[in-house]
Amino acid sequence: MKILVGVKRVIDYNVKVRVKADGTGVETANVKMSMNPFDEIGVEEAVRLKEKGIATEIVAVSMGPAAAQETIRTALAMGADRGILVQTDAELQPLAVAKLFKALVAKESPQLVILGKQAIDDDCNQTGQMLAALLGWAQGTFASKVAPADGRLEVTREVDGGLETLSIALPAVVTTDLRLNEPRYASLPNIMKAKKKPIETLTPDALGVDPAPRLVTLKVAEPAKRLAGVKVKDVAELVDKLKNEAKVI
Ligand code: AMP
Repeated sequence: MKILVGVKRVIDYNVKVRVKADGTGVETANVKMSMNPFDEIGVEEAVRLKEKGIATEIVAVSMGPAAAQETIRTALAMGADRGILVQTDAELQPLAVAKLFKALVAKESPQLVILGKQAIDDDCNQTGQMLAALLGWAQGTFASKVAPADGRLEVTREVDGGLETLSIALPAVVTTDLRLNEPRYASLPNIMKAKKKPIETLTPDALGVDPAPRLVTLKVAEPAKRLAGVKVKDVAELVDKLKNEAKVI
C-alpha cells in the first residue's frame, strides 16, 4: 500500500501568534515554523503501517513556499521514503490544497491519503473532506485508531457519545485526531539519512490547478485582552463579588 501524507508548514504551536498591524493576517517573518502537529501524527501512523509491513512506500507532500522543504525533511527523518513539494508563494486555501492533492493522487496512485484533521494556523478542518469528495473516495475523519482488515480499513473515531468504528473501502482519505498515536522524535542518524532522500518539486501550474483563493479575508484581529484578576480576602467577599459584580450566582 502506497501512502501520501500531507505535511503543512505552520507557525510552531509554542509561538505566541501576533496579528499584523494592518490587520491583514498574522506575522510570519522571523517566527519559528514547524510541521502541523496533526500531520506529525499522520506521518507517525504511516511509518507504523510500514513497520507492520502494510505500507510499502510513504510519500510526504507539502504545498507552499520553498522553505516547506524543511517540513518534508522532518517527515523523511521520521521515516517517509520521499517527498513532493508543490511550490508556490500564493495563499493556499483548503479547496486549492484538495485540488492539488487530487492531481497528485492521479500521478502517484496511492491507496491511502493521510491528512491532519486540521491545520493549526487556519483551523479550517476542510481539506480531507474536500479531497475525499473530489476523488469520490471513502473518508475516515478524526481517526483515533486505524486498522487494516480484509482489504478495507477500520477507522475508530471519537464522537460525542463514545467511540464509533467505521469500516471503509480503500482507496480512502483518513484524517488524524490527537489520540491516534504519539509521534516519534527523529534520531540523529535518521536526520542525516533524510538528507539523501529525494524531494521532487512541482508547481500548481504543472499539476493543472489554479490555486487562486476563492475566499477573501476581511480582517484579522487579536482577541480582546482579559482583565487582570483580583485577590479577595475571604469567601464572603468572593460570594459577594460573584453575586453583585459578576452576577453569575
Ligand atoms: P485544513 O483543512 O486547512 O485545516 O488542513 C487539514 C489538513 O490538510 C492538514 O493537517 C494537512 O494534512 C493538509 N494540508 C492543508 N494545507 C496543506 C499544505 N499547504 N500542504 C500540505 N498539506 C496541507
